[in-house]
Amino acid sequence: MPFELKTIGDWSYYHDPGLEKMGIAHGFMTRTSDAILRDAGRRAAFMAALGAKEMIVLDQEHGDAVHVIAAGERPLTGDGLVVVEPCVIGVIKTADCLPVILCAPGQPACAVVHAGWRGTAQLIVHKAVAAMAGLGVAASSIRALIGPGIGLCCYNVGEDVRTAFGAAGIDDGVFTERDGLSFLDLKEANRRILIAEGVRHIDDAGLCTSCRRDLFFSARRDARAGRQITFALIKGQATAHAPDRETA
Ligand SMILES: [Zn+2]
Repeated sequence: MPFELKTIGDWSYYHDPGLEKMGIAHGFMTRTSDAILRDAGRRAAFMAALGAKEMIVLDQEHGDAVHVIAAGERPLTGDGLVVVEPCVIGVIKTADCLPVILCAPGQPACAVVHAGWRGTAQLIVHKAVAAMAGLGVAASSIRALIGPGIGLCCYNVGEDVRTAFGAAGIDDGVFTERDGLSFLDLKEANRRILIAEGVRHIDDAGLCTSCRRDLFFSARRDARAGRQITFALIKGQATAHAPDRETA
């Protein structure tokens, strides 16, 4: 597994240091990230730590809208972002739903995707791969990182989920029966969709948000769950290591 837990300031996140060296800053943050969503000062400090000039956070809808953030486009709603400009952070928020990062080292596009069961049943990772293909990024050159989400160990689902997955053509093998209940392997479902798209390099952090109370919020486990964020940005040539941005 390429993931390591990194700490910057008050925050911690899982990331692949190799990808970071290749110019793609990214992370699956722990519950330490919740304040970034609620506090403008914390958000500014986080952006400064990453040398970012902008951070895009959507109102998520459990849908399948994936936006390419080119010059001037700043959508308000959706569940996936593809950033192409350096120093623009794409963010998605989760607390059991699956966060997925797609990137292609050396190519100017990286994506963050919010894939809960509804988004997965609408094949949102397929739509993100297609959006990247529209930018000239071949699926075979994409690296996919599957982050912390509720695992097969804990994700008991109803018949409605199974019906939606069947209608989407997702293999029923992603469901497991235990004690008369259905459990969904949401990570495996997304992995299979990515493989069908031609994505060959997929790394799974192997972390269940429900099991890891020490690290993550879980909407199913916690009565009042916060949200952890997943982020990705293309580092800027001039700003990636510029400490003076802290005070800019
Ligand atoms: Zn679990």
